[in-house]
Amino acid sequence: MSEGQTNPGDPEENTEPMESEKKIRERNPITRPAAEGREQGSKPQQEGSGVVGMSVRDLNAYYGSFKAVSDVSMEIQANKVTAMIGPSGCGKSTYIRCLNRMHEVISGAYAEGEVTLGDQDIYAKDADPVIIRRRVGMVFQKPNPFSKSIYDNVVWGAKINGFRGDTDELVERSLKQAALWDEVKDRLKESGYSLSGGQQQRLCIARTLAVEPEVILMDEPASALDPVSTQKIEDTMDDLKKSYTVVIVTHNMQQAARISDFTGFFYIENQGDPGRLWEFDETEKMFSNPDRKETEDYVTGRFG
Ligand code: ADP
Repeated sequence: MSEGQTNPGDPEENTEPMESEKKIRERNPITRPAAEGREQGSKPQQEGSGVVGMSVRDLNAYYGSFKAVSDVSMEIQANKVTAMIGPSGCGKSTYIRCLNRMHEVISGAYAEGEVTLGDQDIYAKDADPVIIRRRVGMVFQKPNPFSKSIYDNVVWGAKINGFRGDTDELVERSLKQAALWDEVKDRLKESGYSLSGGQQQRLCIARTLAVEPEVILMDEPASALDPVSTQKIEDTMDDLKKSYTVVIVTHNMQQAARISDFTGFFYIENQGDPGRLWEFDETEKMFSNPDRKETEDYVTGRFG
């Protein structure tokens, strides 16, 4: 993610989306627990779970006239962790921001191609980006808690989306899913800023989960964290994928190997070219017997 990019849901930094989210709240109140009763029109892709995957076809992403990502097609499986790896500048962050229409919030940036979330074409003319971003939540590289209490950080997004249930229960459930509950349960009224960097990042994960998305995008969520916090975030993955579809960008190959089911390798063959999805397969194959030489060179640490 670009330095300084803000979360469009941050009440301090960007108030514009709140306007439209108020309208959405009237149409789409959230009253259900996660992974149940998903948005109408989204067909579950995995029997029984109610969690949807995503399908990407011929995706191109631009910053003005600069093409950053070219021709990506990928099936993102429901209830799995899909990791994006590759050298810096190959378009991984740009790509995942196209999965919830965050890319286009950058002036001059746009995407072409087809991205579906269950049955919903997220770039359809009538698709509301605010609803898409609620269904496909995002955790950024740098923890960005709001200047509010731990409790209010968790409930804020859910409240503006019309959550009418038990907020105590929502806070406890979300913090437990983010593996933070035990550390903060006695200090929920303290500021989110009072937490360590690793705890703040788990708070941001809890905040994302509280909005009850179907897919969670994580852009290098542990890159700025100490090993213990990194481990805690990795530990949440197995639980998270029971209820969500997870897509993560990581520069840490061991992390991708440990936590993901599928891995996509992004690569630029010639300087000046856009980034391409060079190889995409089950993580085990990508790290043991990839089809392409560049993938093998990268995962064995020969460059990158
Ligand atoms: P990665 O995540 O693999 O490091 P990025 O998606 O951040 O790659 O960047 C892909 C390309 O897009 C790079 O050439 C980068 O310089 C460019 N880029 C990223 N963000 C912007 C931006 N806000 N404006 C213009 N170009 C950008």
